[in-house]
Amino acid sequence: MTAESMDLAGKAILVTGASSGIGAATALALGRAGARVALAARRVDACAELARQIEAAGGEALVLGMDVSVEAEVGAAVAATVARFGRLDGAFNNAGVLGPAGPLHTLETADFESVMRTNMYGVLWAMKHEIAAMLETGGGAIVNTASIVAQVAFPGVAAYTASKHAVLGLTRSAALDYFRLGIRVNAVCPGPVETPMAEIGFGSLEGLRTASAGFPAGRAGRPDEIAGAVLFLLSGLASHVSGQGLMVDGGFTVQ
Ligand code: NAD
Repeated sequence: MTAESMDLAGKAILVTGASSGIGAATALALGRAGARVALAARRVDACAELARQIEAAGGEALVLGMDVSVEAEVGAAVAATVARFGRLDGAFNNAGVLGPAGPLHTLETADFESVMRTNMYGVLWAMKHEIAAMLETGGGAIVNTASIVAQVAFPGVAAYTASKHAVLGLTRSAALDYFRLGIRVNAVCPGPVETPMAEIGFGSLEGLRTASAGFPAGRAGRPDEIAGAVLFLLSGLASHVSGQGLMVDGGFTVQ
């Protein structure tokens, strides 16, 4: 597949949670495909390093400090992207946290509120501002990061699981509201991927690698393997795909 057939060259695309893991790998892949990429995250120093890599590969990048759990900051990041690139063609709403682990009755309401604020409201607010911007210029494509726990469950992560089910619900609902207006909305549902978040979830990188020996693929996913699915969903190749939660899990959930 060529960069040309992906049709992402010149597209203005906002990536949240771009400072690390899946977000960083996807932003880099978008830059290499010729997109103009807005890198939004709380850690601007990590985004600045990524911007240098994108620019070294011939791409264009904009670094934005943003906390997705604060709506005003999300709205400002979308506005800054439009101000710099003149439009918004795509968005990857990827920022997320695992939150506290433990059986549901041991979690505090504040634990749920904090996970929901980042994972659910962060995606909701991003979509709200992105869709308004995309409607101004005739449409676009949005991909949200859900998880396999948007469609199945793991024990001990009730808040995270509920938040990712919500992300998929928002994705499906928005897909119906906006398809005829030119906006496609999909989600990726990664299984375990080698990132700092999975290291926390499995106790360590070694813990993840030991557990992943029992996965159907015999290993966890790599961030660039999630990026490939995101680029497909953002691209014109997916022009008739909307409302989907695409499992990118090495067969984890079909066992
Ligand atoms: P990561 O910890 O490397 O990346 C998470 C990113 O989100 C970081 O850039 C972090 O700074 C950012 N972020 C968190 N809270 C934020 C906030 N309030 N405002 C702005 N940015 C914020 O982990 P990752 O695995 O790359 O996670 C990316 C996404 O993938 C998350 O939504 C996560 O739930 C999802 N996911 C990860 C896995 C996995 O196994 N790694 C599996 C399924 C889904």
